[in-house]
Amino acid sequence: MKEREPHHEEGTPNPTAPDSKAPDLAPRDLVVVGGGPAGLSAALVASLNGLDTLLVERAGRLGGQVRWADAPVPDLLGNAARDGNELADRFAAHLATSRAEVRTGVTVQKLQLASGRALLRLADGGCLIARRVLLATGLSHRRLGIPGEELANPYASPRKNLEKFEARAIVVVGGGDEASSLARDLATAGAHVTLLVRSSLRARPMFGDAVRAAPGVVIREGAVVRSLTEVDSEIRIELMSGEVLIAAACFVRIGVEQAIPVIEPPVERLPSGQLRVDASGRTSCRELFAAGDLVRPAGQHYIAAALADGTIAARSIEDDLAAEGGTA
Ligand SMILES: Cc1cc2nc3c(=O)[nH]c(=O)nc-3n(C[C@H](O)[C@H](O)[C@H](O)COP(=O)(O)OP(=O)(O)OC[C@H]3O[C@@H](n4cnc5c(N)ncnc54)[C@H](O)[C@@H]3O)c2cc1C
Repeated sequence: MKEREPHHEEGTPNPTAPDSKAPDLAPRDLVVVGGGPAGLSAALVASLNGLDTLLVERAGRLGGQVRWADAPVPDLLGNAARDGNELADRFAAHLATSRAEVRTGVTVQKLQLASGRALLRLADGGCLIARRVLLATGLSHRRLGIPGEELANPYASPRKNLEKFEARAIVVVGGGDEASSLARDLATAGAHVTLLVRSSLRARPMFGDAVRAAPGVVIREGAVVRSLTEVDSEIRIELMSGEVLIAAACFVRIGVEQAIPVIEPPVERLPSGQLRVDASGRTSCRELFAAGDLVRPAGQHYIAAALADGTIAARSIEDDLAAEGGTA
């Protein structure tokens, strides 16, 4: 591998612009953003094929939504798992055998693309440079956007911690399938649950009927949350009406959304807002590829699909870089 040196070409995004902090100026062949199945498979395949590859993941652990799966994962051929954590650990262990570098706890906020280079601006003020970026940022829990929201969701997998909620007051925010089924499961485990629904319960009957019938769940429709604060190790939930609820924990389950950082210049999108990609994951900017749930319509969100997307994108990136004169 060539030694990498600080580098800034005419016409490329300038990493020494005022909002940069200690830029990592060594250009990578590929920076993969997101450590779910799509990003992990892309980083593995790219590094196996000689690309100088860095994967960045905003969470503390790799795995993405796979870690949200509390139940068995039965449908991944040759890779059935007891739960998502087991599978995600296997994925991460496999990637660790490769030469790909992995950095967790790193959030990409903005991508600036020009002249065969991508500048990735990070939430901590740092930046990275790459010849290609693969965006594999998947889906994230939708946020309420209220003060104190970071106090919500004390566990990524509340169903693994049900005993902690027995006989405690718990608030769940949301009116869909996920909020309803979580409220019911918490109540079944002995919690006193208040389900706060902004308008009216819109969960499908299998979830909505179950939560309505669950003893231990009070459903409050038309309840809009204003803020969360911590008081004596409990959560104070203030509603727009001025009413206050006190709970041991608050879970916000108001759906998921595609997690797309700011992209400059803008790339082509579908009318739905999704990034437009070809079958290889190419966007309308040659420096940027995208893969996995981020670019798949609802109904096609599978681990196997994300793994395949990552693999195909990595091979296409390798071909592109080879055509441009090789890799690092
Ligand atoms: C509860 C549950 C159960 C499921 N069970 C199954 C199943 O049994 N079988 C199956 O096939 N599929 C299942 N799925 C679907 C499957 O998990 C997803 O389709 C798959 O994880 C998508 O992979 P991905 O890599 O595209 O995105 P994700 O898994 O969403 O990974 C994206 C990653 O990007 C990171 N990220 C986001 N933004 C940034 C940023 N700005 N900077 C840095 N990192 C960022 C996120 O933290 C995340 O780790 C399940 C999903 C859920 C929620």
